[in-house]
Amino acid sequence: MRVLLLGSGAREHALAVGLSADPRVTALTAAPGNPGIADVATLRRDVSITDPDAVAALAVEVGADLVVVGPEAPLVAGVADAVRGKGIACFGPSAAAARLEGSKAFAKEVMAAAGVPTGASATCEDPTAAAAALDTFGPPYVVKNDGLAAGKGVVVTADRDAALAHAAACGRVVMEEHLAGPEASLFVVCDGTTAVPLLPAQDFKRIGDGDTGGNTGGMGSYAPLPWAPRGLADEVMAAVVRPTLAEMARRGTPFTGLLYVGLALTAAGPKVIEFNVRLGDPDGQVVLALLATPLAGLLHAAATGALAAHPPLQWRDGAAVAVVLAAAGYPGPPRTGDVITGADRPGVLHAGTARRADGALVTAGGRVLNCVATGADLAAARAAAYALVDGVRFDGAQHRTDIALRAAAGTPAR
Ligand code: AMP
Repeated sequence: MRVLLLGSGAREHALAVGLSADPRVTALTAAPGNPGIADVATLRRDVSITDPDAVAALAVEVGADLVVVGPEAPLVAGVADAVRGKGIACFGPSAAAARLEGSKAFAKEVMAAAGVPTGASATCEDPTAAAAALDTFGPPYVVKNDGLAAGKGVVVTADRDAALAHAAACGRVVMEEHLAGPEASLFVVCDGTTAVPLLPAQDFKRIGDGDTGGNTGGMGSYAPLPWAPRGLADEVMAAVVRPTLAEMARRGTPFTGLLYVGLALTAAGPKVIEFNVRLGDPDGQVVLALLATPLAGLLHAAATGALAAHPPLQWRDGAAVAVVLAAAGYPGPPRTGDVITGADRPGVLHAGTARRADGALVTAGGRVLNCVATGADLAAARAAAYALVDGVRFDGAQHRTDIALRAAAGTPAR
């Protein structure tokens, strides 16, 4: 099987490692990829991955049997439609189905139609409506930019003025009831009709230990969740995923690809905080680290409507932990160009890195590397992940020291 992988972060590095380890894969091309992905794939840096025609042409050129789309922007732009238009299987939803992530208001509309448990919400187009909605729901206020905002579109605050300011800055917003309870992510592989859950995971959004400081794309993650109720995945499949897939199919826009269900485990049961239409980053990395089933075969089955005939998933025993190393300045504008040493080890995934002309590996983005390790339990996986962290050096590196710390003791992080 010849595979084309789109994306350039640590999630895509994890996908590349999994795809290249599948004996069915005879050739792996990544666009644009990164220096870590270059170890297991041929890189094509000359194609804009949000240009549907350009990606479809590349898929034809490399003779791809399967295209795997890592990030959301190409999906929202219609890359999967263009690839399928060439008769090539694609793991990722159509532009119409990617609206589950591309528009929070659309996601809420689908959830309402499908009877999916989620917080009450109001979509507001102007400051007067926004102010009225804030007062209906009361503090803490939850204000979400309707469109894609690279993980930074949501403000949760007790400060009414700050909530109003975010609404004014965004334009169209979704105001939501605040959902109290620990958060979990469930990733579900879908072929339009059939859906197979992966393991629940949890990520850490704030830059600082103890969930302090600015919001980030994610500073670490772990799986599985020892504190989660038994049967969580089954409950979410029944209450959320199957009704959502049925509603999307009913609308003539079946969902094929990875449905990411962000949940709050409230006193009244799991409620959906958000849908994403691709693997989480960095929470996807820990789930992939535990998946023993060959990855290309699974994603190809989903892309071709053949999941019902796919064998049950197999998982490695134990747990996985990912710790993100970020550049100086992150989550503000990151400093780039710092020389990195010690990254050339299994489990160190590249995110924001580049090769200098002299071959040195340097920082080139906010989140620079992920250190991902498995172990017999969360404590062992943590120790192994932090041992990887200790071996990597670059000036200004920042990381959290408390990833999976509470979970290793059996308590949710948040
Ligand atoms: P989202 O981009 O929708 O995942 O939101 C980012 C983060 O904001 C989530 O991971 C939650 O921590 C928080 N959040 C979003 N919606 C709510 C809500 N309705 N109640 C409480 N927290 C929320």
